[in-house]
Amino acid sequence: MIRIIAFAVLVTVFLLLIRSFFFPSNQKKRNPAVIAEMVKDPNCETYVPKDAAIVKVIRGTNHYFCSETCAEAFSKKADAGLH
Ligand SMILES: [Zn+2]
Repeated sequence: MIRIIAFAVLVTVFLLLIRSFFFPSNQKKRNPAVIAEMVKDPNCETYVPKDAAIVKVIRGTNHYFCSETCAEAFSKKADAGLH
């Protein structure tokens, strides 16, 4: 009798594992669109993940940069372009 219960428990655990594999509850980890959202750094022309990018509003437009250095360099260029 104990063997049957142990077998039933094993089958249940196995089925739960299979189900979590095919239908993951954590949608964020499995959604490549969220991870793959890339933005272009206009200064060095590298693509950076939007979450990790540094956002600067220059002349009313959002610009995304890979680093503070690039953000400063580009805003200086933008300022120079005004004069
Ligand atoms: Zn950059």
